[in-house]
Amino acid sequence: MSIRSSRVYSYITNLTCADCGRIFSASEVNTYCPDCQAPLMTNYDLQSLRQNLRREDFTKRHWGMWRWHELLPVQSPANCVTLGEGDTPLLYLPRLGEKYGLPHLFIKDESTNPTGSFKARGIAVAISKAKELDVRKVIIPTVGNAGGAMAAYAARAGLKAHIIMSKDTPIANIEESRMAGAEVNLVDGLISEAAGIAGEKARAEGWFDLSTFKEPYRVEGKKIIGYELAQFFSWVLPDVIVYPTGGGTGLVGMWKAFAEMDALGWLENSRRPRMVAVQSDGCAPVVKAFEIGEAFCDFWLNARTIATGLRVPKSFADHLILRALNESNGTAVAVSDESILAAQHQLAETEGIFAAPEGAATIAALDQLIQQKWIRPNETIVLFNTGSGLKYLNASIRTT
Ligand SMILES: *Cc1c(COP(=O)(O)O)cnc(C)c1O
Ligand SMILES: [Zn+2]
Repeated sequence: MSIRSSRVYSYITNLTCADCGRIFSASEVNTYCPDCQAPLMTNYDLQSLRQNLRREDFTKRHWGMWRWHELLPVQSPANCVTLGEGDTPLLYLPRLGEKYGLPHLFIKDESTNPTGSFKARGIAVAISKAKELDVRKVIIPTVGNAGGAMAAYAARAGLKAHIIMSKDTPIANIEESRMAGAEVNLVDGLISEAAGIAGEKARAEGWFDLSTFKEPYRVEGKKIIGYELAQFFSWVLPDVIVYPTGGGTGLVGMWKAFAEMDALGWLENSRRPRMVAVQSDGCAPVVKAFEIGEAFCDFWLNARTIATGLRVPKSFADHLILRALNESNGTAVAVSDESILAAQHQLAETEGIFAAPEGAATIAALDQLIQQKWIRPNETIVLFNTGSGLKYLNASIRTT
């Protein structure tokens, strides 16, 4: 199939199982590969896109995630559900950089997204595509921000939303979900227990499950971060990306975006960033698997951390996360909750950014990366603040 017109809204072709390569149709409701229990990745006709459009056609458009719509799966603009997500600031950190001896230190501040976290990006795409495929009711297991985002976007799309949350989810996430009219169930236990309940309800009552990577399109929304980074740095990618990793959608998404941009001929050179996955030492399945060279993660028992977004005992895409780390010559770092809280203060005091604990974890990781001489002073480093600290006020008070 080859797409000739430049008027095509999306260049999506089909989906591929990340494990066995089986092809799935883009015009049907999909979840994951039933044979491999592996995620489906979306394909686009990049060859036609390369012929029909230049990167400048995208950069001159009105701001927001949807200016990259040819590289997103939604096929009609009428189905795009937006609250203004994307094009978040990439902030230079001169004062923090001076402390660490890193003159080229930046942070991508995702806290300005709707609902206060970068979950808005993925959920916006997933809800839009669900709407396009006539899905009427959506369910999600979550430890926080994904639930709040899904409730908001489902409300805007006119879909029914059901959210299975762990009891110790931050109050802000519970309240924002209820405020948007979602049905909220609080359960004992972790996201893995919530996921079991959501899966059960999906099968029994026909809810569509938006769990990380069990739904194919959240990662497509997250990948746009990679395009925004490339544009900011004039199509020469930074040396290092430090990413707080739970389910891994952002990390896997950016890695996919870099490959797509390469295929489109948009990058000035073929150098890709070294990807760093940061986790809490109370739940570090990716760090453990990376250190012993495994291709998959073991389920992390008794996961505990104040960074609720990192409390994922085993990601459904563990294999893809580890592959991106290895292919990029990256690494994985575990940090303590104490160091996360200290870093949260430090970032606010030096640069005025009140980060979510997950975002603060990337600053805590810098210490280790510098000590190990894994990063060098002349390198361009991008940290990630994935959410607003304001959403965790009750949570941080409880633990200090
Ligand atoms: C979900 C979440 C994460 C983890 O993101 P993944 O892309 O799933 O790894 C990090 N930070 C915050 C604030 C989150 O809500
Ligand atoms: Zn498969």
